[in-house]
Order: sequence, then C-alpha cells, then structure tokens
Amino acid sequence: MAATLAKLGLHNIQDLLFQLPRQYLDKTRLTPIGKLRLNTHAVVQGNIYKTEIKFGRRRSLAVTLEDTSGRIVLRFFHFSNAQKNRLQEGVLLRCYGEARLGSSGLEFYHPEYEFPDEDQADSLEQTLTPIYSLTEGLSQLRMQKLSEQALSFIDRYPPEDFLPDDIKKKFGNVNLTEAIKFLHRPPVDAPVQQLLAGQHPFQRRLAFEELLVHFLARQKMRERSRKEAAEPMNIDPAISARFLEPFPFSLTGAQARVCAEIFKDLQKTAPMLRMIQGDVGAGKTLVAALAALHVANNNKQVALVAPTEILAEQHFKNFISWFEPLGISVYLLVSKLKAARKRESLAAMADGTANIVVGTHALFQEQVTFNSLGLVIIDEQHRFGVEQRKSLREKSQDEKVPHQLIMTATPIPRTLAMTTYSEMDYSLLDELPPGRTPIETLVISQQRRQELIERIRANCAEGKQAYWVCTLIENSESLSAANAEEICEQLKEALPELKIGLVHGRQKADEKDQHMQAFKNGELHLLVATTVIEVGVDVPNASLMIIENPERLGLAQLHQLRGRVGRGSQASFCVLLYGDKLSEQAKQRLAVMRQTSDGFVIAEKDLQLRGPGELLGTRQTGDMQYLLADLERDAPLLPEVHRCGKKLLQTQPDAVTALLDRWLGKNQEYARV
Ligand code: ADP
Ligand code: MG
Repeated sequence: MAATLAKLGLHNIQDLLFQLPRQYLDKTRLTPIGKLRLNTHAVVQGNIYKTEIKFGRRRSLAVTLEDTSGRIVLRFFHFSNAQKNRLQEGVLLRCYGEARLGSSGLEFYHPEYEFPDEDQADSLEQTLTPIYSLTEGLSQLRMQKLSEQALSFIDRYPPEDFLPDDIKKKFGNVNLTEAIKFLHRPPVDAPVQQLLAGQHPFQRRLAFEELLVHFLARQKMRERSRKEAAEPMNIDPAISARFLEPFPFSLTGAQARVCAEIFKDLQKTAPMLRMIQGDVGAGKTLVAALAALHVANNNKQVALVAPTEILAEQHFKNFISWFEPLGISVYLLVSKLKAARKRESLAAMADGTANIVVGTHALFQEQVTFNSLGLVIIDEQHRFGVEQRKSLREKSQDEKVPHQLIMTATPIPRTLAMTTYSEMDYSLLDELPPGRTPIETLVISQQRRQELIERIRANCAEGKQAYWVCTLIENSESLSAANAEEICEQLKEALPELKIGLVHGRQKADEKDQHMQAFKNGELHLLVATTVIEVGVDVPNASLMIIENPERLGLAQLHQLRGRVGRGSQASFCVLLYGDKLSEQAKQRLAVMRQTSDGFVIAEKDLQLRGPGELLGTRQTGDMQYLLADLERDAPLLPEVHRCGKKLLQTQPDAVTALLDRWLGKNQEYARV
C-alpha cells in the first residue's frame, strides 16, 4: 500500500490530510424513485419487482426496483450468476447511481448497491461522501478509510497556519484544522451546491494556499535553474546578417527585440529559460532559427521539438534550406522514419555530427543521446509537460545544462502566465509582419453549402488555394479520419475540375507527406484535412479556409486553425460552416471569432467559456494539477498570491519549505525541474 500511495505522492499522515477530495457524493438522503431526475446522482431504496436477463444488442441483467413512488431498471452488462441469484424478486435493495436514459426510461447502469438490514433511513451516510483521486491498486473505499485514519490524528497534531495575518483575516480567520476536517467529511447539513462549486469559505481559504504553494514551487524552480551551469554562447552579429541575407524581408521590430533578449540570455552561464509568446503568424520560427544559428556556431547542438510530424517536417525543410548553405547540418527524428535513416540521425546526434535536430516526441525516447546539447527549443509548448522537457535535458553527455526556449502561439492571459509559467522569463512577439491583410471571417449555415462550393470553384479557378477542415468527432481520430475521407469524396464529385488532397492522422506517413507537399507546391487546389493541420502549417498562398462544425472546437483552437490563412498578401477568408442546431453559447463563441482576430482577446473569452485546463493543455501533459484551486475562478486572487509568495520567500524560508512539503510532498520532482 505504501508503494501505491507513493504514486500519488502520499507518504505520511500530513500528505493524506492535504489530499483533499476532488468531489462529493450525497448519499445522506433517499430519493423517491418517482422523483429521480435525468443525469443526477441519487440513492434510492425499494423492493425488487422482477429480475430478468435481456437479450438485446448486448446481453444484460435488468433488475426492476420499486418503491411507493415508482419503478426504475438497474442494468448490468457484466454480472455473475451469484449476483443474479441474490437479486431476487421481493428483496430490499438500496442503490446509488446516476439516472440515465435507457431503453425502458430512466435507468441506473451498474449502480453501487447494498442490502440494508431494515427499512430505516438512519443507516444512510452521516456525511457527504468524499471522492479522492486514485491510482491503480487503490480503491475509493480504501482511500476513504485512510483519510478517516489520518483525520483521527489532526486534533492532537493540528497543522500550522503559515499565512500572514492580513490574509487569514481576508478569508474570515478560518481555523485550518476545522477546515480540513470539514472538507474531508462535510456534515449532512453542509451547503452541497456551494461545496460542489468550490465556493465554500473553507475551500477558498485552502485554494489560496494551494495557489500560493504552486507559485512558490515555480519560484524555487527558477532559483534552482539560475544556479545551474550552462554554456555561455558567443554571439556574432555578422553571422545573423549572413543568415538573413537571402530572406526577401527584414525582421519585424518585435522579432529583433525578442532576438536581442534571447541573445543576452544565451551569453550567460546560467541556462536560459524563456517563453516566447506570439500570435499565429508572428514569425516565431525565424526567431527560433536565429537562436539555433548562434548555438550551432558555438559548436553546440540544438534540438527543436514540434508537437506534430507535419510541423516537424515543415521546420526540417525550412531549416535545411536556411542552414545547409552555411555548412550547418540539420537532421530529422520522427518515429515514422525508415530504420536506416533513424539510425543515421541517432548516430549523428550522439557523435555530434548533427548540429541541429528537428523532431517530435520521438526526441524524448530513451535511445536518444546528444554529444553536447546547447539549446532545446520547444514549439507550441502547451502540448509538452514539464516532465517531458526535463527528460530531454538529461540526454546530453556533457555536464552543462542546455538553454531552453519555449514558443507558444496560445496567447495566455497575463494572470495565468504569471502563475503557470512564473519560473520562466517571458518575451512577447506582439507585431505581425507587415503587409498582411486581415482575414475576413464568415459564419454561415450548412444550408448554404452549395453556394460555398461554387465560391470555392470560382476562387480556385483564379489560382487561389483553400483548406477544408473537418473537425474532430467525439475525440476520435479514426472517426474523424473516416469523416474527412467521405467529405473529400463528396467534394471531388462536386468539383471535378479541381485537384483535391487529403490529410488526416490515420494516413500512412508517405501519403500524408505527399499531399501536404503537393499542396505546398501549389499542385493541389484544395486540401481536405482534420485538425492535424492545426498548428504551425505554413502555406502562404492558401487564402480560404472552411471549417466544418466549428462549434465542436474551442476558440483558441479555431484561432490556431484560422491562422493557417492570411499568411500571404492576398485577402483571406475563413468560413465557419455550422451545423443545424447551434446553442446560444455556441453562437456567441462563433460571433467572437467574427469580431476579432486578436489572439489575446480570444484566449480571454475561451478561458471564460471553457476554463484553463483546455487552454493550457495541462490535461494532455500530465503537469501538476490543482486539487481545489481553479485558475479561472480564482484569477482575482492571483495578485495577492504573488505578493504573499514573494514576502514569504524573503522573510520566512522555513514556512516556504513547510508549505511545499505539505502540499507537494515527495512529489517535488515537479518542483525540481
Ligand atoms: P508563427 O509565429 O505562427 O510560428 P511562422 O514562423 O510560421 O509564424 O511565420 C509565418 C510566416 O511569416 C512565414 O511564412 C514566415 O516566412 C513569414 N515571416 C516571418 N517573419 C517575417 C518578417 N519579418 N517579414 C515578413 N514575413 C515574415
Ligand atoms: Mg509556428
């Protein structure tokens, strides 16, 4: 059990006490069956009216339960004979589950159930049931018992309250011990709705502390990072000039400024840890290339990590054409490479022949080593977690820590950035290259599809290129791929004179490549794609994008997609082709897209509408998540959190250590990156 708990970072009683429930169930009262509401959890109790095995599309055991107010079917798709035999007609049963719509009306699927001794309600739970985060080998019941045991110590060993008095007062001078007891086992009369919304004063008090701890952890990370040794790079302006010579444009003011910031960092003996934020199309690739240039010029290696193969490939092709003329070698490492070529890349990285390596997640794999890694560049960082970044750093054979440059096109509102990336320095690429014409966004109904197809015909006849984007179906890449294939066929039929390509995540790599490249070369008029083209793809001649069912996507994602057009000088259009039933909220969101092309405004809206998990991508990366705090809801607390955090770091280092230990426990790996 100790080993299992360790996986959750739980090593002692204090860890258990601060492992607060994620959620609560209300099993303190019985609901009459006749009063059950769709999609709500409830405890019901009644006698079994009948039990039968149904042979529908799937074999199931259907147990009909009856009380004085009505009947409901409990349905089990997996059941044993013994189970079936105990669930006999007439038996008194209590069960807990979520009422959902089944073939017989409201049903419970696989509810928890028990056989109560008597028909008395007083054997019901006396507190709300806490629901904890679990891991394999740890059941909810076991975790509840463990927290029960931990709570039995809290009065004898109350946790120390480290918050300054003014903050304590702000949260109503909550007693920390009482708050923890309450949150683990809220009494029957606790305000359930408030608790479920995370709005209870005790939750607020602890959420503040949690935010504070995360801030402190990031600050510590920053401190530690500053103490590490990195190779200082010599910056030779003449090299920059030579590199930029072939380009038909010069750097924007913002690019020049951000490059200067990066160069300053690179000359230091402490590792750079800098995040570049720039809206889509701001020209981040070139900034990254200039950083890579100087590191390669110092005979150190550079790794550029992209989130998709398409993007890695695109960067690779650009880099080859930019760097090879200067005698700087560029290699590619993505998982689909033929074995021989992969071996070649791996060997070149290990012996130092490769100056720059462009790749995907494949770069995080075990067999990857570098001779002397000087700089890691992560493109579109929100897809990579702290842990992944760290694994890359450890691949270099020399003692020094590589510099790190992190680029993101997800404009993160300032308050969020200050909290989530407070260990990093921050540069803003706040200027688009000149000559871009704004993208006009249209929101139109599927009913006008035919009209739209005619428009594409006319546009492509003039030599323009277009994307037709099929959105994700229920997060299933294979369904989406099938959908894209179907739409591609339809469009080919409707537009026989056009050359149409297809790109989706289920294709063979060669096929994907071939279509992507043909589109880039202007050999295809129209590219039908899933959201695999979301990030980074750069084809300046494409000036029309149709996004089908845009209501399925978040705003930040739509903004990313839309950023694939409007990259050349011609007028560009983005058509949001929505389905039949558009909710009010969906309408509002699409209206935002029509009204603004400012990534920051869109991100703020997205944050309001969907919460920070989606925006920051923490869900995908497995980065440390908050138990109680909610970055959107609690954003107003952040300035106070920062003030308080800085003060504690200066005046009470012991309290800082104790707080980190209390909340993050041995999970400090996270704080050690
Ligand atoms: P993002 O910031 O979205 O990654 P990219 O690096 O893909 O943007 O750049 C978008 C486009 O702008 C590319 O076609 C690139 O060549 C072009 N570009 C980059 N910098 C400049 C500049 N200073 N002037 C004109 N065009 C530029
Ligand atoms: Mg990019």
